[in-house]
Amino acid sequence: MTHAALTRLQQGLAALKDDHLDRRRRLLDGAQGAHVTIDGRRVVSFCSNDYLGLAADPALIRSAHAALDACGVGAGAAHLITGHHRFHHDFETAFARFVGKPAALLFSTGYMANLAVLTALVGRRGAVFSDKLNHASLVDAAKLSGANCTRYRHGDLAQLESQLANSAAQDKVIASDLVFSMDGDIAPVDALLDLAERYDAWLYLDDAHGFGVLNAGRGGLTERARASDRVIYLATLGKAAGVGGAAVAAHASVTDWLVQKARPYIYTTASPPLLAACLLESLRQIEAGDARRERLDGHVRQLREGLADLKRGHLMPSATPIQPFVVGANADAVRMSHALLERGLLVPAIRTPTVPAGTARLRITLSAAHSGDDVAQLVEAMHAVA
Ligand SMILES: *Cc1c(COP(=O)(O)O)cnc(C)c1O
Repeated sequence: MTHAALTRLQQGLAALKDDHLDRRRRLLDGAQGAHVTIDGRRVVSFCSNDYLGLAADPALIRSAHAALDACGVGAGAAHLITGHHRFHHDFETAFARFVGKPAALLFSTGYMANLAVLTALVGRRGAVFSDKLNHASLVDAAKLSGANCTRYRHGDLAQLESQLANSAAQDKVIASDLVFSMDGDIAPVDALLDLAERYDAWLYLDDAHGFGVLNAGRGGLTERARASDRVIYLATLGKAAGVGGAAVAAHASVTDWLVQKARPYIYTTASPPLLAACLLESLRQIEAGDARRERLDGHVRQLREGLADLKRGHLMPSATPIQPFVVGANADAVRMSHALLERGLLVPAIRTPTVPAGTARLRITLSAAHSGDDVAQLVEAMHAVA
């Protein structure tokens, strides 16, 4: 008997390969860091989101050992059953204080937190307004909510305003990445808040890449946004925080509502409490992390100066540790990425459909764990292969 569906999958896989769109996983041995062993080879990694170098930090490792002895490995149940550990609770309190919001709720991943917030805030009579370059998890969350989903051109506030003005929806949410994950630019938070106030909408900001890095580590919120009840803030905790999970910070009625209504919070086992203990230590390191952030800023300057005169391709205007180098065609990005790997430098090619057609790029990310020599090596290799 033929299995036509399986044959179609196999044809689909072959087509992806022909278009240079097939993805593969590289195998990491040992710890995350600036230098990693990937597929059995030592390379300098310019692709992790471990911006502060906390993922394998000795203080975090010690906190994990201590927590392991205190609370074991698994959470055992969902938060609303018996899984809500004091470590989870203490982290939520500390996180809310640090980012300057009244309350916080810890999730297992950023993807789940986005699904939770948008599905709990709006239903079929609501409307979600999203920047076109928002992360896939926000796009999926908006769809899953059943709300009317409208996308505005990246950063186009005039278009957003006309969409808001034309909406008759009762509950409205403006949803945006705070730092855009593939471009590295920062959303105009106060201007978005102006529109949220004018049209009585929530403003939901996903700061996966700003938390730990911007504003002494407190993330990309402005003072006005911190103080506003309509701003709901998300930090993911597997990037600069170096651990995993995500925290939503907002007015206490919002976090209470999520506990009551958000299915990706309710119907899942709590994350291991030892991770929350590591996150508490991570928060301390982030708070005391000015030296790490200064080193990171120095690397960003060094890279931008070093690549300024490259003719084949260009760096996008980004002041964050995400430094995309746009080359255009998928095949060219892949070719450059391979050539860099031959020189022991791991820089991923980001292709369509993750980014718009014709803007395939090398997504360089920098970390405080890099040395100036690592960055110099990348600059030299980029000149050789471009
Ligand atoms: C990484 C990322 C997420 C997902 O967070 P995870 O904790 O990895 O699931 C959500 N939003 C943005 C903008 C991201 O970059």
